[in-house]
Amino acid sequence: MNPPLNPSARFGEAAAAYVDPLIGRSLAEAGVPLQVSTVAGGFKLRIELGLPLVGYRDGFCRGLLQHLRAAGIDTPVEVETVQRILAAGAKQLPGVRNPIAVGSGKGGVGKSTVAVNLALALVAAGARTGLLDADIYGPSQPRMLGVSARPDSADGRKLEPLRAHGLQAMSIGFLVDPEQPVVWRGPMATQALTQLLGETRWDDLDYLIIDLPPGTGDIQLSLAQRAPLAGAVVVTTPQEVALAAARKGLEMFRKVAVPILGVIENMSGYVCPHCGHEEAIFDEGGGARLAQQCTTELLGHIPLTAQIQRDTDDGRPSVVAEPQGVVAQRFADIARRMTARLAYGVPAAELPQIEIHED
Ligand code: ADP
Ligand code: MG
Repeated sequence: MNPPLNPSARFGEAAAAYVDPLIGRSLAEAGVPLQVSTVAGGFKLRIELGLPLVGYRDGFCRGLLQHLRAAGIDTPVEVETVQRILAAGAKQLPGVRNPIAVGSGKGGVGKSTVAVNLALALVAAGARTGLLDADIYGPSQPRMLGVSARPDSADGRKLEPLRAHGLQAMSIGFLVDPEQPVVWRGPMATQALTQLLGETRWDDLDYLIIDLPPGTGDIQLSLAQRAPLAGAVVVTTPQEVALAAARKGLEMFRKVAVPILGVIENMSGYVCPHCGHEEAIFDEGGGARLAQQCTTELLGHIPLTAQIQRDTDDGRPSVVAEPQGVVAQRFADIARRMTARLAYGVPAAELPQIEIHED
């Protein structure tokens, strides 16, 4: 028979059994590092979490303390959370722990809008984040970020990313005139992209969000193969044609063994600017169905609002233009789910609060 556990080990076991709704498994099962020490009359827990903690830490601690009380711990407990975002993939890009591609099967679904707001939501959550505009045919990030300077190169070889709204950013649009369409031949396009990706001096990034060109052609495929992607998300609108294209996008990432972090449904309903009522204008629930069919998750949906369009046209995406607004909140949720899935591989069924429209 095992000797009875001492109080501190018993406390540690109770804490490790906590199932945080976002992580989806117990801290022990998720491999979350946890240290117990004793402090006057109680215990102190130090927990290392692998996702950005602003906006998440408080809820996490509240849930954990409730769990401990329910498990019969009645001594005072102090919780210290430490943000420690590790590289999820094996291969590395210099200066970047987790490169994440944002793809879509077709253009015009709001991929660039989603990419920039997602990147800014990661900044707001406390992560060091970069944005690479890899859409060399139609770079839109210079306009969306409201920056147009030319990047410096201190050593004449590597490019310094531009800084905007707390992001490190690079775009082909900083190097060529974004208003002048550039006709790239296939191999040139791939080469330009590879250079942009590899020859930017990214500075200690937790996440690099890569806004891919739309489609599932050679250039997307070669980037998905060459860039050491930690994961990919796919943006779709709810209509059937967009969903079919998004499915192809998902399959492309699967083919090259890039983990799919989930689907983001954009323009999923119209929010009335006067009364706040949300009305579905396209088919409903498409993103959720797609995620289910492709055994991934719906990370969230973003409504269609005139404000989103105005904000991105003004170079101040909604997440920074209205940080307390509904759109910023949706992106914060999506960013949390995405990073949790990247760090802990959350099973779909266990994620809370996903809004799924039933047919
Ligand atoms: P993509 O990168 O897929 O081609 P963009 O992000 O450039 O698409 O978006 C296309 C247009 O749709 C832009 O004018 C953008 O402002 C607008 N847009 C994107 N998402 C939304 C939304 N949720 N609500 C309103 N307008 C949007
Ligand atoms: Mg785009």
